[in-house]
Amino acid sequence: MEPDGLRRACFISSPALWRRGFGGKHPLKPERLARTVALLEAYQAFAAPNVIRVEPRMATDEEVTLFHTQDYVDAVRALSAGETPGQAVARYGFGPGDNPVFRGMYESSGLKSGGGIRGAEMLMAGECDVAFNFSGGLHHAHPSQASGFCIFNDAAIAIHWLVREGARVVYVDIDAHHGDGVQEAFYDSDRVLTISLHQDGNTLFPGSGFVNDMGVGAGKGYSVNVPLPPYTDDETYLWAFDQIVPPLVRRFSPDVLVSQLGVDTHYGDPLANLALTTRGHQALYAAFSELAPARWLACGGGGYNLDVVPRSWTLAFGVMSGQTFPDEIPASYREQYGGHWLHDREVPSISEAVRSRIRHRVEETIRALQKQYDL
Ligand SMILES: [Zn+2]
Repeated sequence: MEPDGLRRACFISSPALWRRGFGGKHPLKPERLARTVALLEAYQAFAAPNVIRVEPRMATDEEVTLFHTQDYVDAVRALSAGETPGQAVARYGFGPGDNPVFRGMYESSGLKSGGGIRGAEMLMAGECDVAFNFSGGLHHAHPSQASGFCIFNDAAIAIHWLVREGARVVYVDIDAHHGDGVQEAFYDSDRVLTISLHQDGNTLFPGSGFVNDMGVGAGKGYSVNVPLPPYTDDETYLWAFDQIVPPLVRRFSPDVLVSQLGVDTHYGDPLANLALTTRGHQALYAAFSELAPARWLACGGGGYNLDVVPRSWTLAFGVMSGQTFPDEIPASYREQYGGHWLHDREVPSISEAVRSRIRHRVEETIRALQKQYDL
């Protein structure tokens, strides 16, 4: 912390992160990263004295294999270089659709994972209090399979790295989709508490993350899932968060908070059906700021509306670094990308009958979780 109580906030980025991507009409557009940095620069967010801007580095094989298998890493490297190792494309989860192969995907994925480790290194060395690896949060990747636009699971890799350093880690995932890959990584461990709030798996990819999925063996009770119905809005989402997350995090008493800040919970997102606004997002970032111990590693995540992602992650970095930005978007950004206001001026229209039905279902979920985790 700085003497004025502000966190020393590290932002991890490089233009190399948005030079390559899945391409074509794929929804995970690298431009979302470029726009986020452009908006933060327009607000001069990096000029604050407590802000440190660093470049990510490539994760080594030794680091990537903290979670992934070596044969998967080798296949990603070969496919990335344009080699076609036979059945590898389908066997490792690649192919047309969610995870098409693209040239340079090994370098791109390695840099995003390396960004997470760079943040973890700086936190453990006491060089910053919060690190935002905004290009990461690729929470669906499995040990030997790409999944849901995710190739290397930077969050699982960084958490493994932190655990190896002796840290107790809590992972909280607020992406609209269940954080299945990270949960899987620590499903039998009591060193890492994973909590995922997401749109109900019966209605959205990856179709997992139910209330009864609470870990196995030593890890039983250390995986937590809060499935939410489509059209859950700010008020109901924040109520569920407050009922479940702070009591569990405080009881676990972590050394490091790792948060996945996917913003596809927004009502304008084209891939999911939750109904949050940027005000809800900002309240969640503030809740993390309250809850975080001395070390907080924040990752990005999903979010497929190019108008929403830069605004919400600008608000996130504002909370991390203790900066409040004027609501009117600076002209330099507006002229290039459009937009007027940092916060949404509209709210989703959801009928009272639907809201009340959702609230009732969420209440049942909260009660079940409180009983199950003895809250
Ligand atoms: Zn998502």
